[in-house]
Amino acid sequence: MTKFSELNLNPKVLKAIEEAGYESPTPIQEGAIPAALEGRDVLGIAQTGTGKTASFTLPMITTLARGRARARMPRSLVLCPTRELAAQVAENFDTYAKHVKLTKALLIGGVSFKEQDALIDKGVDVLIATPGRLLDHFERGKLILSDVKIMVVDEADRMLDMGFIPDIERIFGLVPFTRQTLFFSATMANEIERITNTFLSNPARIEVARQATASETIEQAAVFVKPSRRDREATEKRRVLRELIDAEGEACTNAIVFCNRKVDVDVVAKSLKKYGYNAAPIHGDLDQSQRTRTLDGFRDGSVRLLIASDVAARGLDVPSVSHVFNFDVPGHAEDYVHRIGRTGRAGREGKAYTIVVPKDEKNFEDVEKLIQKEIPRVENPVKAKAPEAEEAPSEGAAPKSPRRSERKSPRGRGKAEERAEAPAEQESKDADAAPASPAPDSKPEKAERPQKGDNKRRSRGSDKSDNNVVGMGDHMPEFIALSFEERRAS
Ligand code: AMP
Repeated sequence: MTKFSELNLNPKVLKAIEEAGYESPTPIQEGAIPAALEGRDVLGIAQTGTGKTASFTLPMITTLARGRARARMPRSLVLCPTRELAAQVAENFDTYAKHVKLTKALLIGGVSFKEQDALIDKGVDVLIATPGRLLDHFERGKLILSDVKIMVVDEADRMLDMGFIPDIERIFGLVPFTRQTLFFSATMANEIERITNTFLSNPARIEVARQATASETIEQAAVFVKPSRRDREATEKRRVLRELIDAEGEACTNAIVFCNRKVDVDVVAKSLKKYGYNAAPIHGDLDQSQRTRTLDGFRDGSVRLLIASDVAARGLDVPSVSHVFNFDVPGHAEDYVHRIGRTGRAGREGKAYTIVVPKDEKNFEDVEKLIQKEIPRVENPVKAKAPEAEEAPSEGAAPKSPRRSERKSPRGRGKAEERAEAPAEQESKDADAAPASPAPDSKPEKAERPQKGDNKRRSRGSDKSDNNVVGMGDHMPEFIALSFEERRAS
């Protein structure tokens, strides 16, 4: 196995690596570091969790350790799609450059221009930025990019998703033609291929295995949820989520819950908090200090459940996340791989649950196609707990209509649990997604009865509904409870 010491890195960098506790380079590091140190362009096809950040920071520090920056003329530039990722890259530089005298500045939204201007004025070796913020500074004439010797584009596919490609192309035009480019992307979409063909010169191409295939330590499961009504979908999914979290118990030390939309991130976080869970949201619309606070809380364990959008969570480096819950199946199958890769890191065990509603089944198929593996299905915990809530009487069968006495299931589900669900009604009033309506599982029998004006749905719907069974309440005739033998005898 290759050792870091064999990679021609600056001894001071090697010392910092040792202090960080790393011995051997990861595959992306082993491939990218020698090429970068030779001055070659690098095209790294790797995603977060593979050690890709160090695969460019380590050679950069080694190269930049020689020479000094001039005022307003950064010597290297790292472009990241999100502020969090940029901050993480900056931390990475702090870790590995601690024995080397290098200066850096972080140009990200939510931090005042003034402070950053002051740093840039003095001259920085490494400038880490999001594309929009970098161009803002450039347009204000505060920044000269003609001394950039190394340019890094991190998570290019995410830049593409976020519409940053025109900015990236513009920035490529502002830095010297003779620069070295280190370019990283988890996937190679056509547009990314075009950019790399245009702006990289004979790059060393290093592709590392997909995380989903690499990390066998992640146990995956899918829960198929059929909402009782379309407008109850979000509320019922939130309940399934709570049940999943509860079922994991203490094994779920911390988790990231992924939602597809920012608005759902807020709703799910709010709902979990209402139910007494320690949860906090993170997405792009929150201000920087709030996001930093939440992330710090999640890292130090004071926040147990982080509810996140893909963009906000991309690249987040939280070493031990025990669980990932996909509240929604992601629209891009690739994102599934990124999401579940937040757990099961560095050989640790992790568990990833995905909630699948009918409208997401196609996306879920795409995920399974991508990872070339069937994700084991587990029973809907809500259904398992209260089967009567979901079941309809079948044709010709004995009356299955839930009676009050039956609703007190052997596991003790009865009024107490119906009450426990009550806040959901409240929650749906202030949440965007689900309009207030009675919880179906609290009064299941009503949902099965025909409603006024409901004929259309009934005639199109299942035959079950036409075979109306009327429950007998608590006053069941005695003979029904007797066995056939007893009845004959009597
Ligand atoms: P990244 O892909 O850059 O987000 O890195 C993922 C995680 O791997 C981070 O927690 C790094 O600290 C860690 N890491 C980076 N390089 C190594 C290495 N050579 N050995 C073990 N862990 C590493």
